[in-house]
Amino acid sequence: MTKGNGEDPKTGSRMERIQQGVRKRTLLAKKKVQSITKDDVKSYLLRNAFVLFTVVAVILGIAALDSKASGKMGVRAVVYYMSTTIIAVLIGIIIVVIIHPGKGTKENMHREGKIVQVTAADAFLDLIRNMFPPNLVEACFKQFKTNYEKKIFKVDIPSNDTSTVASIISNVSEAMETLTRMKEEIVPVPGSVNGVNALGLVVFSISFGLVIGSMKEQGRALKDFFDSLNEAIMRLVALIMWYAPLGILFLIAGKIVEMEDMGVIGGQLAMYTVTVIIGLLIHAVIVLPLLYFLITRKNPWVFIGGLIQALVTALGTSSSSATLPVTFKCLEEINGVDKRVTRFVLPVGATINMDGTALYEALAAIFIAQVNNFELNFGQIITISITATAASIGAAGIPQAGLVTMVIVLTSVGLPTDDITLIIAVDWFLDRLRTTTNVLGDSIGAGIVEHLSRHELKNRDAEMGNSVIEE
Ligand code: ASP
Repeated sequence: MTKGNGEDPKTGSRMERIQQGVRKRTLLAKKKVQSITKDDVKSYLLRNAFVLFTVVAVILGIAALDSKASGKMGVRAVVYYMSTTIIAVLIGIIIVVIIHPGKGTKENMHREGKIVQVTAADAFLDLIRNMFPPNLVEACFKQFKTNYEKKIFKVDIPSNDTSTVASIISNVSEAMETLTRMKEEIVPVPGSVNGVNALGLVVFSISFGLVIGSMKEQGRALKDFFDSLNEAIMRLVALIMWYAPLGILFLIAGKIVEMEDMGVIGGQLAMYTVTVIIGLLIHAVIVLPLLYFLITRKNPWVFIGGLIQALVTALGTSSSSATLPVTFKCLEEINGVDKRVTRFVLPVGATINMDGTALYEALAAIFIAQVNNFELNFGQIITISITATAASIGAAGIPQAGLVTMVIVLTSVGLPTDDITLIIAVDWFLDRLRTTTNVLGDSIGAGIVEHLSRHELKNRDAEMGNSVIEE
């Protein structure tokens, strides 16, 4: 069974497959090496510090409030989150309609990577289920993602060329390789942080804190325990922060090298990047500071100046959750925001309040419509604003989570979800900027909620005789 040139077609194709396999493995190894620094920084900050810190900080903060004060504070925080997110979405829509970066056809554009299919129903069901984990210990390591697993870990065993044992083995090994590759991808799940069910832990910590708070003197021993644990973790975070700038430097340097490999970026993509930057700047530099000034009558720039370390960490890590310990530190130690407020509003804010992500989701969806010459009517624009708000709430505070939940926005108005690949190339950069906006939004929210809750906080202090958490 040899061809005229003496080459056995089956052996030839097997050789090619082996060569292809080697190439794939080399590429994977290269990718792994590139991501070592990134993974080091992220897993250390996320998995270790985040879980301990969030649980302890939230329990402690809530325990220091009474249920009436925390209820009022919760309502204020949610009103702030919703209104700023909607303003951000509107800015995104207006700016992308005015600038119109998607002029031309998508054929001119560079396409990258693959996307994950998620429906709005999938995202919301997972979000709700993650809020109430059946097993708390398990919640520290696992989160619901059945809907995602079903779609992502699908293995396609090639159906052609299965006549010999060799080709079956080769097909299976190719399938196994696909499976390994798929498992290596991080799948952001609503309410989860790097495999940890953050939302479930936050909901538990709030309930536990409320119970300890209602126990008055009986709960004193537990409060003291969490207080001292919190102090220890703060010291640990201070140690990690020495390492962070170095990690961030490598992260950005690595990305710049990758960008160089990528070749020419289309003009539309450059315009899109500029449009997102303008939108985020309007929200972060005009809207949020103005809101802070109008409500508190204090200088917003002094407040923002105290947040520099947190904003730089957000820029470096692309994760509002990883930045959380630094955000706490800046707000409490530099800006002097009451710990009972920060511990109550920040962990929830880092998970659900993402102004930058909401703005970007609406803007990117309209950009994709423009690239496809797809005329959006008023009803569709309203749909985009609602789903962009929902998608930002559903996105986890981890790198590029917004890119995944964008599928919800696109499907809601019938835009091609595959076109997310058009904007993947610049997302590593835009993600940093929207994360910084997200962290700023959470921090200004904490400042505003503290101002609005000052009477309840004073009453609580008077009731307790002294402050439970020393300022
Ligand atoms: N990286 C963002 C954050 O952590 C979420 C997003 O992808 O928009 O806040």
